[in-house]
This record gives sequence, structure tokens and C-alpha cells, in this order.
Amino acid sequence: MSVVAPSRPASFEVVTPSPVDGRTRARLGRLTLSHGVVETPQFMPVGTNATVKALDPDDLEAAGASIVLANTYHLYLRPGHERIRKLGGLNRFMSWDRPILTDSGGFQVVSLADWRKIDDDGATFRSHIDGSTHRLTPESAVEIQAALGADVAVAFDHPVFPSSERRVVQDATERTHRWAERSLAAHQGEDQALFGVIQGGLEPDLREASTRFIAGLPFDGLNIGGLAGDETPIQRRDAIDTVVGLLADDPRPRYLMGLGSPADLLDAVDQGIDLFDSVLPSRVARTAQVWVPGGKLNLRKAEFLDDPTPLEDGCPCLACRRFSRAYIAHLFRAKELLAYRLATLHNLTFTLDFMARIRLAIASGTFEATRAELEARAGRNAAGEDATMAGEAAGDP
Ligand SMILES: [Zn+2]
Repeated sequence: MSVVAPSRPASFEVVTPSPVDGRTRARLGRLTLSHGVVETPQFMPVGTNATVKALDPDDLEAAGASIVLANTYHLYLRPGHERIRKLGGLNRFMSWDRPILTDSGGFQVVSLADWRKIDDDGATFRSHIDGSTHRLTPESAVEIQAALGADVAVAFDHPVFPSSERRVVQDATERTHRWAERSLAAHQGEDQALFGVIQGGLEPDLREASTRFIAGLPFDGLNIGGLAGDETPIQRRDAIDTVVGLLADDPRPRYLMGLGSPADLLDAVDQGIDLFDSVLPSRVARTAQVWVPGGKLNLRKAEFLDDPTPLEDGCPCLACRRFSRAYIAHLFRAKELLAYRLATLHNLTFTLDFMARIRLAIASGTFEATRAELEARAGRNAAGEDATMAGEAAGDP
């Protein structure tokens, strides 16, 4: 496997490696980027349109966010990457001075555009906003992300749903490899890191070949794509095992795209994943579901209208410090905007605090010993209910 050149604008240090003879591959890392340090394992809230819906940057900091993800597809269509570049780049535009990662746009082209045609050179698609026709290639996706100016850009890839038939997965995986090389060739690496995407679906040999190919290129980080979709938990576990097993002591961060429920995050950390993103905590918050130790509360239920207690005892978020379940349940029924802010703040605080608990356990060598405790806190959703929202992971239109 290749080694990251020291001159890159990202460096990753494994602070606590996974134990040699342990059953877990969980590890603690520190990813240093232009706008700051990201302790891993870490969750990245998704700011689709250069905002995490309902929150401002102070809210995000209070929730514990050290890095956010923004969507290239959305920002390219509106307000336009050149406009953001002229206004000083994404950090200044959204007034967020910590790290940002922009995705490649590939997933949104496939999942959101009104119409798309993918050929070997790139993807032509119709905007979901106004039906206008656009084209993205590996080169233009890199150029757009350079204009946005995030700390980390991602190589343009061709994702497919996990359940796609083999020939579809194979075709998209091979195209992703060619596009990875073209993305690297187009990338000016002085102040923006570039991560590459491993595809391969649920086919072990294709996953393995994709891991070897992408890891053989000088990317700063390795994304695992094509999961957190319609696969079963066992299929996902096997695919991650294939990738992480091959990467072994590769010195780069591993980022599983689109996973967001606490229980799923815990499983994937256990398998050696360092970075995650999902709209799940914020999206479910806007449907009046808040995460608490052991499960979730649906604030639409009548019982909460008379409940004077906070969403979660001891939670440091604004919603829990100042307001009752009764008040927030009322806000949701009255469709008051404050409801969305408070519930989103709480769910992100819960998620980011959960990641901090995981990091603390790894650092103190108690991850395996406290695994059951962490599992209980995460709550296992019945029958995989909203375990993932990959289909919409970065969409959030
Ligand atoms: Zn709270």
C-alpha cells in the first residue's frame, strides 16, 4: 500500500492503534487539516446547502462538531461554486472556521437529479431544482471543489446501490477507478486534501480489487462507498471486513460514507472505521424524534405534552438545559421553527457525545470491556428501523 507524501495538506496519526490480539479493530486517530484537528473516530454533520439545517455555526460548535460536510452537487447548482470562490470560499461564506469536507457530487447525481446519463467521460444530468442540464466529469468535480475551498475534497465516483446486480457494480467500480486517476491528475494539492472512494458493492472480489486499486493511489484518505444503503447489517459487516482487512496498517483515515445511527456507528468503529457522515440525526430530529440513552422519543406522542422533564437528564445541549419535553412537544405540534433547532441540537449533541465516549473508551483501553454499555446507550433500532438513510445520505433536498 502506498504511503502519504508528507507535503499533503492533511496528515493522519494513529494515536491508539487497534490492539494486536483484540477482537476489535477500533482505533484512535488525529486528522490534521488546514482549519484544525479532527479527533477520530468522528462523525461529520451534513450541511447540504452550506448549513446544517436549523443550526448556526455557534450551535454546531456547542454540539461538539469539529468538521462538517457540504454537498458539491447542491452548491454547484446553487449558489454556484464561482460565486462562493469570489466570496472567499466556503468557510467564510458559511462563517465556519473549522474543517469542511465536500463530497464528490457523484452520489447526488445518481440519487437526486431528475435525469442522468453516465458515460465513461462523466455524467450529464438535469438539475432537481430547475430542470437545467449540467455535466460533471472527474476534472470538473475537482475544479468545483477547489473553488469551494474545503479542507478535504473527494474524487468523483460512480456509486450504485448495494443490491445492484454484479455487472452494474463491476461497471461502476471500474469507472470509479478510472475517474480516481483522473481526479488525482486534475487535483492541485497545495492546500486541499483529496480522498479517494472505494466501491465494489457487496461482491467480495470486486470490493477487494477496488480496495487494492484505490489504496494504491496517493490519496490522503480512503472513503468506503456503496454501503449504508439497502444492504443487510451482515452484508455491510462483511464488506467493511474485506476493506479494513486489506488496508491493515495503511496510514490513512478510513471514511464510511452515509452511516448515522449510534448503533451502526459503534459497529463500524469496532471494525476500524475512522470517519462518518449522515443527515440522519438532523433529519429524524425534524420529524420530532430525539435520541436518548437506550433509544428514542417520539415527541408527537400525547404523553409528552405533560412531561416537565428535559429530553435527556444531564445533556449539556440548549434544549435540555432550558426546556421541557412538554414545551418542545408543543412547539412541534404548533409547527414552531424553534422545535427544529432544539431537536436538531439535541440529536447532534447526543451523536457527537457518543463518539466522544467511544474515543475515551479506546484511549483508556476499555473499548471491548465497555462495548455492552455503549451498545445499550446507542439503543438498537427494532428491525433495522432507520438504521441507515444512505439513500438520502447526502441528499437532504
Ligand atoms: Zn440535549
